[in-house]
Amino acid sequence: MPHHATEPLRQFNMNAIRKKVAFHTLGCKLNFAETSTISRSFPEDKFERVSPASKADIYVINTCSVTDAADRKCRQAIKKFITMSPGAFIAVVGCYAQLKPQEISSIPGVDLVLGTNEKFDIAAYIDDQGKRSETEIHSVGLSSSDTFNTSYSLGDRTRSFLKVQDGCDYGCSYCTIPRARGNSRNPLITEVIREAYKISERGIKEVVLTGVNIGDFGRSTGESFSNLIGELIRVQGIERYRISSIEPNLLTDEIIGMAARNEKILPHFHIPLQSGCNKILGLMRRRYTRELFRDRVNLIRKVMPYAGIGADVIAGFPGESQADFEDTFSFIQGLPLSYLHVFTFSERPDTLAEKLPGKVSPAEKAERSRLLIKLSESKSADFNNLNKGQTTMVLFEKSRSEGLITGFSSNYIRVEYPWNPKLAGQVIKVKLNSVSSSGRMTVEII
Ligand code: SF4
Repeated sequence: MPHHATEPLRQFNMNAIRKKVAFHTLGCKLNFAETSTISRSFPEDKFERVSPASKADIYVINTCSVTDAADRKCRQAIKKFITMSPGAFIAVVGCYAQLKPQEISSIPGVDLVLGTNEKFDIAAYIDDQGKRSETEIHSVGLSSSDTFNTSYSLGDRTRSFLKVQDGCDYGCSYCTIPRARGNSRNPLITEVIREAYKISERGIKEVVLTGVNIGDFGRSTGESFSNLIGELIRVQGIERYRISSIEPNLLTDEIIGMAARNEKILPHFHIPLQSGCNKILGLMRRRYTRELFRDRVNLIRKVMPYAGIGADVIAGFPGESQADFEDTFSFIQGLPLSYLHVFTFSERPDTLAEKLPGKVSPAEKAERSRLLIKLSESKSADFNNLNKGQTTMVLFEKSRSEGLITGFSSNYIRVEYPWNPKLAGQVIKVKLNSVSSSGRMTVEII
């Protein structure tokens, strides 16, 4: 039976050997930025950071709850660590912890569940007492959540995910993220710039701007996303910025123009479409029509002919007839997109979509997803062909795979080159050649 502890601050035996702590992240780039920041709040004189693949005294699991499958993966991860180290202290944070703390605390072996506001103070909840007889839950309702915890990822990736915005005020009918993360809010531009300099000091060349609804940056400070990127490109040492994802109705001409004029803003746009049928966009309570989406894509293509343009699409939304699906399919077929992220509709509890009529059968949903994934493959093959012979800048990863070094081009094409450690973490000018059996493009350095 879980209980609500009041005083988080606990005593620590200073002479004890350092505790081994491991962090495991599920979900989005924002979660990776936050886990990395949370891990830095564990003082090194008391805690030794170890890989989650190894035995640890403490496991911190940062969760995601965007779909049923995400919840299931979180439960599996929690149980895996409990089995791996039965005596370890298990702390669960993140969106799933905020939305369903009771569900998590019913898993035998979970010691601590922290909500969205509390997760950044986790080190204060951990002490020498070790495992709890009952799960401690600290998660408050988020209605008034206006705290913004800055975050950025470091060390385990070639690029850094920089959190610039949190929460969302949009009410899309299928989404629980606003309940998990609260209202749309952001720090002042000056605070983000301070974080960017901390990343630059670590020699990281690429920053991925992340959040929940980043185009809404400025809502809580009276600033704007274009103001923000206008300041970020002046930060010395960071060579390029990637916009992780931006709502079509918030992707202004100004932002597209800034990317076309400034090499530091990468020509890669990931834009959630969700459906290519206006009737379904209405049922989803999305804030644009397919015409607006098409207009954004065409403007990008006009001013940046080789830009990478990706889109999210949901298959099998309630009310989506076969004709609606074919409408979406032909709409996407007609657009110069580079790839799709396809999501099979997953009903979330207490959402408007949960109550909508016209549920699509699991078999039909699976078939529509299969067709969209095939369409995405042909889109990315066309995009690779379009880029053959083009020159671009590649950030090479730090890891070696099958004797090769890989990386992403400015416009988000995955490339490969014979392993050369000198290239790791560097932004290098290359010519894109052909597609290899791995599906990546081979390059020559110029
Ligand atoms: S924009 Fe819509 S789908 Fe995206 S987080 Fe907000 S409510 Fe959810």
